[in-house]
Amino acid sequence: MQIAVLGAGSMGHGIAQVSAMAGHNVVLRDIEAEFVEDGLEGIRDNLQGGVNRDKVTEEEMDATLESIKGTTDLEAAVEGADLVVEAVPEDMDLKKDVFVDVEEATDTDTLMASNTSSLSVTEMASVLEHPERVVGLHFFNPPHIMDLVEIIVAEQTDERTEQIAIDYVQGMDKVDVVVRDTAGFATSRLGLVTGLEAIRMVEEGVASPADIDEAMKLGYGYPMGPIELGDHVGLDVRLHIAEHLRRELGERFKPPQSLRRKVRAGNLGKKTGEGYYIWEDGKRVGTSGNWGGPDE
Ligand code: NAD
Repeated sequence: MQIAVLGAGSMGHGIAQVSAMAGHNVVLRDIEAEFVEDGLEGIRDNLQGGVNRDKVTEEEMDATLESIKGTTDLEAAVEGADLVVEAVPEDMDLKKDVFVDVEEATDTDTLMASNTSSLSVTEMASVLEHPERVVGLHFFNPPHIMDLVEIIVAEQTDERTEQIAIDYVQGMDKVDVVVRDTAGFATSRLGLVTGLEAIRMVEEGVASPADIDEAMKLGYGYPMGPIELGDHVGLDVRLHIAEHLRRELGERFKPPQSLRRKVRAGNLGKKTGEGYYIWEDGKRVGTSGNWGGPDE
């Protein structure tokens, strides 16, 4: 297929990479040339890492890079595309604007997918004349490592669109789960339940963040504890999704006070060096606040 990926940030460049590795021709579009270049650089780094670990051959790396072009021109990016995947920031108005612009520049049989992690795909599709070709494709971070893609079926999504989405996901050797368009889908909703409850347990003094995370790793087989995961994702992102789910699903998603405080203080997790943990050079080196001494 001919695929356009809009947004070359954390998710967009990874989606472009896994699409190209599955044999598709890809155009990666961002609003500034330097963002496009950063995205392409990220793909080169991922692939080189794969070559170094014997997961990717030099030939696969070259072929993948050959099939990805970068641009800042939206019309050039989506021209002739079978599938357009948007991975622009999590903002409903922005995503609607992007979809309207894409509809103007494409044929009616071009599929339009959103990588939103929580917003309503049905609402996004509602601004289009042909909303039946819209679907959610919720990749996980980083897309070249994570096997799951949630396929979000909007109210308007037709069978052709759903089938092409399933074939595309399976063609990348990824695993699809098909979810009806509901707030937080399956993953963000359940992930947040444990994430918020774990923070409330810290606030109540049940145990330290490190002990709660360790308990879930060893006791329940989580690859990463729920509090550490929040620091990875970004506490601002967590808070934003919690507020959205609270509006849509009720008070059980009410954000804990310490989460609001940390976001107000600019302590957003790994990316700022402090969240519920202290981070140095991308590594967890301690716990934020007083837990009676170092726990690492
Ligand atoms: P990001 O901020 O890293 O990247 C977004 C990119 O979009 C930026 O480079 C920005 O310049 C670009 N952009 C802005 N407006 C644009 C436009 N009109 N056209 C093209 N590009 C434009 O964000 P991200 O973390 O990659 O998130 C993108 C989407 O993926 C969001 O909807 C987010 O909720 C979702 N998502 C993120 C994660 C994650 O862990 N980061 C996981 C799953 C889904």
